[in-house]
Amino acid sequence: MLHGYIPPHRFLPYLSWTEIAALPDRENTVIVLPCGAIEQHGPHLPCSVDSVIASGVMGRALEKLPAEVRAFALPTITYGKSEEHLHFPGTMTLTGTTLLSTVTEIGESVYRAGFRKLLFANGHGGQPQVLEMAARELRLRHGDFVVVPHGVSRLPNASSKQISEQEKRLSMHAGHSETALMLALAPDTVRMERAAANFPPPFPIKLLSADGRPACAWTARDFGPSGVIGDPTSATREQGIEILETLSDSWAQALTELHALRWVVRDEPTWERGHQQGFIQQSFVAAA
Ligand SMILES: [Zn+2]
Repeated sequence: MLHGYIPPHRFLPYLSWTEIAALPDRENTVIVLPCGAIEQHGPHLPCSVDSVIASGVMGRALEKLPAEVRAFALPTITYGKSEEHLHFPGTMTLTGTTLLSTVTEIGESVYRAGFRKLLFANGHGGQPQVLEMAARELRLRHGDFVVVPHGVSRLPNASSKQISEQEKRLSMHAGHSETALMLALAPDTVRMERAAANFPPPFPIKLLSADGRPACAWTARDFGPSGVIGDPTSATREQGIEILETLSDSWAQALTELHALRWVVRDEPTWERGHQQGFIQQSFVAAA
């Protein structure tokens, strides 16, 4: 079925239009759009990693939500902007402008359906800028639209205590955390016997890069032939399950607070893209 990792009762396209039109409290219902990619992740992982992780983590978080927290997921955007990996077969990339149009137009559709809270849950490190641009554009078009672009793996989780200092600083792609999460979410697709570490040399200009990450634009081929940027070799399924559970706990809490957040409407003499319809209230109000 189409819902994949999303619990079916939280999958918006399983509702009819009449059911969606009748949903209570649409303005506070959180719509989650997982954003993934189809791109090479080294010889040991499938190309679907970012789409699997975005859907898998958000699906687990939605499973944990109490019924009174209103939230639904849309189908994952499985294609993303993966141009930094296009030298490897299996990478299927959109251009930035195509992805920008796609998420902006989906955002418009979410707003048109009466929803006012949208989360872009991003699983791919090559496209946060595009999602941030789409979120800002939607906010400018609609004075009362709360659009949150955020990296799926960027909430507190167990991976920080599992990995080495070098991994923390320099891992960017197909390293320990992604490999562990894939062992938890789609173990049949992981080939640990092919896993090998590959780190870029620390960037030599300290002023431009305090942590040693490349400060110049790069493609994955710049760091060697394997496509890996990090050390996946010590990842285990148990670690992946621990990351999945702690990360989805964090997301369940974030979704709960996003549902409770209130947009305070105020009337000001503004117009068009400058239209200001309200602001986010400083303190959260308990969800009704
Ligand atoms: Zn990835």
